[in-house]
Amino acid sequence: MTHGFSTRAIHAGQEFDPTTGAVVPPIYQSSTFVQDGIGGFRGGYEYARSANPTRDSLQTLLADLEGGAAAFSFASGLSAEDALLRSVLAPGTRIVMGNDVYGGTHRLVNRVWVPWGVTLDTVEMSDLDAVRAAVQAAPTAVLWVETPSNPLMKISDIAALAEIGHAAGAVVVVDNTFASPYLQQPLALGADAVVHSTTKYIGGHSDVVGGAVVVRDDELAAKVGFVQFGVGAVSAPMEAWLTVRGIKTLGVRVDRHSSNALAIAHALEGHPAVERVYYPGLESHPGHELAARQMRAFGGMLSVQLTAGAAAARRFAESTELFQLAESLGGVESLIGYPSEMTHASVRGTELEVPDSIVRLSVGIEDVDDLLGDVTQALSRLDA
Ligand SMILES: *Cc1c(COP(=O)(O)O)cnc(C)c1O
Repeated sequence: MTHGFSTRAIHAGQEFDPTTGAVVPPIYQSSTFVQDGIGGFRGGYEYARSANPTRDSLQTLLADLEGGAAAFSFASGLSAEDALLRSVLAPGTRIVMGNDVYGGTHRLVNRVWVPWGVTLDTVEMSDLDAVRAAVQAAPTAVLWVETPSNPLMKISDIAALAEIGHAAGAVVVVDNTFASPYLQQPLALGADAVVHSTTKYIGGHSDVVGGAVVVRDDELAAKVGFVQFGVGAVSAPMEAWLTVRGIKTLGVRVDRHSSNALAIAHALEGHPAVERVYYPGLESHPGHELAARQMRAFGGMLSVQLTAGAAAARRFAESTELFQLAESLGGVESLIGYPSEMTHASVRGTELEVPDSIVRLSVGIEDVDDLLGDVTQALSRLDA
């Protein structure tokens, strides 16, 4: 019988140590493995770039939670994305991605892959007709989807996009970082591969940088596995272990992130200092119904547009106390950011540019009344 998500998050790939009975499998902080005679590998382990038991335990866990044939863990989200792109792109091929993908993803393709002979086109991913036209305009090797998107929290229809992408012969990739596998299961909706910055919700404690690729079938698994081994941007044992430790509480954390964020979104919507709240859990959000169908809850990320513009946005981002001003997201602690000069500074001047009146909140799992109080006091300081 298949167990529920949180049961699998605690047990998949996490058998106790057979020699000592340790409930938590040890960190195999070892680069190499003794052979019983030449080629006599114990458990298949030879050298830690090709495989390490701690990384294996994380990869088994991630494959299980995303419902994939295999998962591959990397030193960062971007190195995971790069390994997947090396497996599916070649000079002369083309990638179509959303016009609001994570800035680092756009930079990776635009500044690293395009000079190597790949063509990049961006499209409004929440507009299915526009995507259909884009993938039919020229041969498309990869359709790259990110939903919810950052920082405007647009929602794209994964099942419909998988169909459109497959009809055009493209590999369909979903960056599932914002939702996490707890809220959204892209492979079950038809995607071929999922990528994660495990730095964010999966790690969940702002103490580890990492990334992952999870694939639906064995053929793509063989390609990504070869790139992981052949290029070598693997996650280290300690990082893999910390990530496994984070995943055990993913479900309870994301439930709390989601309920806290919904409460804050409701409080901000209608506040005189706030022009607009971008949160898929609000009925006013254009992707609300789709998100309700596609996601278990609406997650911990939201953005607000300040009525008084850029100066007010900057002031708000610098006036919260519990929400700390920092890059990144998805940790237990609440963070606030000013995308146009922080996370999205690298896309200024491109069509991915973010309005300078927007502030992004990564709502943590602190007590909701404290978070509400913090946001409210910061907004009240705008009038002063
Ligand atoms: C952070 C992030 C990445 C990049 O991951 P790193 O771990 O920083 O390399 C990719 N996609 C999204 C949506 C992200 O938030």
